Amino acid sequence: MLKTTIHLIERVGTKIGLSKAEIQDLLKFDAQHQFEIELSNGNKYQAYRVQHKNGLGPYKGGIRFHPEVNLDEVKALATLMSLKTATTGLPFGGAKGGVAVDPKLLSALELEELSRMYVAHLVPHIGPDKDIPAPDVNTNSTVIDWMVDEYERRTGDTTKASFTGKSVGKGGSQAREEATGRGGVIVLEALLKKLGRRTLTMAVQGAGNVGSFFVDVASREMPDCKLVALSDSSGGIYDPSGLSYKKLKAFKSQGGRLIDYPSGTPVTNEELIALDVDVLVLAALGDVITPANAPAVKAPIIMELANGPVSDKAHDDLMQAGKIVVPDIIANAGGVVVSYLEWLQNKTGQQWGKAKVNNHLRRYLTQATDNLYAEHLKTGLNFKEAAVSLGLKALLRRE
Ligand code: NAD
Repeated sequence: MLKTTIHLIERVGTKIGLSKAEIQDLLKFDAQHQFEIELSNGNKYQAYRVQHKNGLGPYKGGIRFHPEVNLDEVKALATLMSLKTATTGLPFGGAKGGVAVDPKLLSALELEELSRMYVAHLVPHIGPDKDIPAPDVNTNSTVIDWMVDEYERRTGDTTKASFTGKSVGKGGSQAREEATGRGGVIVLEALLKKLGRRTLTMAVQGAGNVGSFFVDVASREMPDCKLVALSDSSGGIYDPSGLSYKKLKAFKSQGGRLIDYPSGTPVTNEELIALDVDVLVLAALGDVITPANAPAVKAPIIMELANGPVSDKAHDDLMQAGKIVVPDIIANAGGVVVSYLEWLQNKTGQQWGKAKVNNHLRRYLTQATDNLYAEHLKTGLNFKEAAVSLGLKALLRRE
């Protein structure tokens, strides 16, 4: 992942005329914190926080708890966060953190101790104006609430602006949970406006947090958009005449698997990828489109709501086939935008309603999509490269 990220920055940097020195500088990290956490039961875990760049504002990025977390992965993710915040126009830099642990093997008390010790090690390096962590894979508002409490205990800072992704009762923002899915809808709407398209059909892979909110918001707010397929890890359901998300949600809430939905045709995830639709939305995992299945993709527009669902090689194939791939850096930036709005509310002692948060989210992501489209036209770069180009230029404060 680190190699791919470095290669992407080198490639785009060269294409937009950056010097070797500038590219080398963009690939450097401001700080890498690596430490060991020893719990009171004697178990030890490797922990990381990598801070990439903070020229545009305090470092920002999640903390993941996963057995495969390692320094190179955290470095790649920190770099991508810098690009994401810069491309989206947020006054933040980029960072990422993690602990190499399987949280499912910990008791609730051990998980709390781990979360608090992670913060205890990092107190001198994080804070509302330095580095503002957030949840990521296997971390949630409960973990973040423990972290905020530990930070407050050690520093006396009660602004709650030290972390985002808190529970709403403890300084979190309204509309955070649905922000990534809603953000995807806003980006799609803004892009369709540029392309002069309105009516379309879409297939969505992944009915988790991101995919479900995407479909929910799209079905209520994009009346010309017809959901024809939706899947989860067991497979999906396809109905060219259209699927009601309300009915699918009710079916799923009773424990039903999408593949067993009583109307339409069951499809595998491989079949869903190959459906003849206008938009294919990938909201499940990384690397689901590879050179092996890229030729089967019929949709002219592919939305990367998951992180890296289109592999690099497959991306080249899709470009040759004339497709539009809306890159994850912008397509799934809704979460970090609302993280910024949460931080802003904490810093100013305000609590905004849902509508105000959603209006600001729309403003940021519509602007980011318009900028992306303009950069694509101006430079001739594909959308992924254009997003990176915008990020690199913002980091270097170039037009
Ligand atoms: P989630 O765990 O809530 O949902 C994942 C969904 O994918 C589930 O419906 C699961 O059944 C499905 N799935 C798993 N394996 C699958 C497979 N092989 N084929 C098809 N579907 C499969 O996760 P999430 O929070 O919705 O995140 C989804 C993706 O979006 C991840 O890549 C994540 O990193 C990325 N992302 C999430 C956020 C966020 O705010 N949650 C923000 C940015 C990016």
